[in-house]
Amino acid sequence: MPRVLDGVEIAAAIKAEVAVEVQALAARGIVPGLAVILVGHVAASEIYVRSKVKTCAELGIYSEMLTPPETITTDEMLALVADLNAREDIDGILIQLPLPRHVDTRKLLEAVDPEKDVDGFHPVNVGRLQSGQPGLAPCTPAGIMEILRRSNLPVAGQNAVVLGRSDIVGKPAAMLLLNASATVTVCHSKTVDLAKFTREADVLVAAIGRPGFVTAEMVKPGATLIDVGINRITDAAEVARLFPGDAGRAATFAKRGSVVVGDIDPAAFAVSGAYTPVPGGVGALTIAMLMQNTVTAATARRGLSGAGTS
Ligand code: NAP
Repeated sequence: MPRVLDGVEIAAAIKAEVAVEVQALAARGIVPGLAVILVGHVAASEIYVRSKVKTCAELGIYSEMLTPPETITTDEMLALVADLNAREDIDGILIQLPLPRHVDTRKLLEAVDPEKDVDGFHPVNVGRLQSGQPGLAPCTPAGIMEILRRSNLPVAGQNAVVLGRSDIVGKPAAMLLLNASATVTVCHSKTVDLAKFTREADVLVAAIGRPGFVTAEMVKPGATLIDVGINRITDAAEVARLFPGDAGRAATFAKRGSVVVGDIDPAAFAVSGAYTPVPGGVGALTIAMLMQNTVTAATARRGLSGAGTS
């Protein structure tokens, strides 16, 4: 039977550890602070930001939400970021993406002080990750590494195949796996005969945003499957194809008109050695890692300890 890698359980353990670190900092008069900038009203972003703010409160981290209107200009956003960069009580700055089209996202991400860049998107942190230096790594890929580490799954010397090469998931996940001494292959939309690579993977990370893309035939028996994809499907036939005989999923679909599926066909989990479910796998880790990064930034900025994951 494959092992289910329970992201919710692992995230809870990380959050408990972060809470202890926050208490130790409080004893020294330090309260880590996270500022989240949420522009306009994107429903999904509002939900994410609310849970980030709520988790901060649970762990004793100060949080501040800035909610400029949709009409804010790049220059006005840059001024907001400059203000947060200068503030002593703010250790982490998170700009919730996506931003409105007229705002220059790249310019803004590069304006964040790299020491406060808890999303790990600043080129300085990208470079630190690439060169194996301590720094702030992007939360979702860092969460993947925590799942593997805390589940005692081998990485060093393993064939790791990453599907997807985005700046926020695929590339940093590949770099973290390489830093952990895996032999890494990155596949993308131009990869020819992708299944040839996935069938060789001891650790397969799927981050492409294609529902159920990785089928059982594409998986090496016993492999570790890390499913990053979060895809909402609304087609009844697709639900029936991906979740045959799953009464729970059918009930959810009947109630909500959609269900969530990852990038890996659930049928492929049966041939794996271990896998992350969707939901309840990688997705559960992202906020926990954001909290960890905020505390890491708070301590590193004060020279209290070495920062971050590499
Ligand atoms: P993205 O920016 O759209 O990148 C998708 C990547 O997948 C690209 O590199 C693309 O290749 C590749 N790709 C697309 N179709 C492919 C195909 N048919 N065969 C091979 N490669 C293909 O997506 P992302 O932001 O990395 O997110 C990926 C998935 O992870 C999404 O489902 C997203 O919702 C989910 N996600 C989850 C979390 C979380 O759990 N907290 C966080 C972030 C993202 P090219 O580069 O060649 O175009």
